[in-house]
Amino acid sequence: MTALPMDFDLAIERFDPVFGIETHVELNTRTKLLCPCPTTFGAPPNTQTCPACLGLPGAMPVLNAAAVESAIRLGLALGSRIPSVSPFARKHYFYPDLAKDYQITQNVNPICIGGHLDVELDDGEVVRVEIDHAHMEEDAAKNTHIGGTAGRIHGADYTLVDYNRSGMPLIEIVTCPVEGTGARVAEVARAYVAALRELVLALDISDARMEQGSMRADVNLSLREKVAVDQDKVPYGKRSETKNVNSLRAIERAARSEVCRQAGLLAAGEPVVQETRHWHEDIDATTPGRSKEHAEDYRYFPEPDLVPIVPDPAWIEELRRGLPELPAARRRRLAREWGLSDREIRDAVNAGALELIDATVKAGATAAAARKWWMGELARVANERGVGLEELAITANDVAELAALVADGQLTDKLARQALAGTLAGEGSPAAVAAARGLAVVSDDSALLAAIDEALVAMPDVAEKVRGGKVQAIGAIVGAVMKATRGQADAAKVRELIASRLGV
Ligand SMILES: [Zn+2]
Repeated sequence: MTALPMDFDLAIERFDPVFGIETHVELNTRTKLLCPCPTTFGAPPNTQTCPACLGLPGAMPVLNAAAVESAIRLGLALGSRIPSVSPFARKHYFYPDLAKDYQITQNVNPICIGGHLDVELDDGEVVRVEIDHAHMEEDAAKNTHIGGTAGRIHGADYTLVDYNRSGMPLIEIVTCPVEGTGARVAEVARAYVAALRELVLALDISDARMEQGSMRADVNLSLREKVAVDQDKVPYGKRSETKNVNSLRAIERAARSEVCRQAGLLAAGEPVVQETRHWHEDIDATTPGRSKEHAEDYRYFPEPDLVPIVPDPAWIEELRRGLPELPAARRRRLAREWGLSDREIRDAVNAGALELIDATVKAGATAAAARKWWMGELARVANERGVGLEELAITANDVAELAALVADGQLTDKLARQALAGTLAGEGSPAAVAAARGLAVVSDDSALLAAIDEALVAMPDVAEKVRGGKVQAIGAIVGAVMKATRGQADAAKVRELIASRLGV
């Protein structure tokens, strides 16, 4: 009988969690790590292969310099040390996705050693995550298990192997254990992967699409009992390693779920097994994979077909000087330039709106207007449809055009929302929609005055009240005029004209 998971808050009251994350990032080089095959995603299976990445006997690897450059740039951005000699090694294991029966990777003096990433949480607290190292390696091929359940090898009828992925350039970033996060453990884990993804995108070394597997994270987690004194001397228990978690949300939920599961076991006196586990979105839990009770012997030895990387220090300095503005610094600069608070910038980042707002500002809108549309009406529509902002059928240029129409007084906010709806429905740019639907502010005073006089005649008692000093009653007349002009008048102007007509 396996113990039930413990409630998260109770688990954190009783246990102290530690976690570490290994993230695989597929580099966006034009060719693979050790052969000239292209790396295009989604090509028909086994069309991007050669003797080297098929593991045919006698084929020799040739190292891709662009991949080395990407790895070093990442290391420099993380504050890592780049060793003067960084060799490759063979890691042996037997699996159909590994044609050579070994993987070319690094284990001694990997390309980036040490470093850190400062991770900002939703409330602005910053947690420093120390990086142990990052190493380069080739990806394995991709197995697809046919038949059986849930795409697992067990119970499958047969397995298809796509070698297009074999030899794709990867960098694996390994954190040091992250301690002391307590109840925020899952939030910090998620924020770390989010920050790393942001960094990778800023460096433009990967498209970092978690849903396509070009960035995937393994979450290691273990617990130790909380004691009154000398907490630091209490060892952590056995850890689990949840493999290939492929969304930020899943990282947070998988970490949380492991805290609850392990706490339940420990409280019931049952052992936590050292093993790999798989995350299942549908059941909100992990299930066991391979046991890691006994460390596997990969029989590492230096790769004899590749000379070690010996980067020229002058080249490293050149790469350092060429680093782009890093995400945290950029956010601080944008906050300053746009006159937004840290909180507002964080909200924009969390909503996936920062780049869109930036592009809209670059297209000519004010930051306030760009933020207002992306974080307001468009966020509402995206939320309603259950999609990301970037998936909406509207561009930053469209939003800038809309903001200009409002700023020029050609559209009220209400009309602008109608124009936006038209654009989202594929009717063209906001200006085109406004023209086609006849959306325009009625600013012609004579047309407005005619509508006002009509309303005053229709509501003599209200007009009398306003004249008698009940100025707030004017709202009813404004409403009638707005209705008569189908919302295309500027309400403030209408109010002004009515007031002068009534002499108040
Ligand atoms: Zn190849």
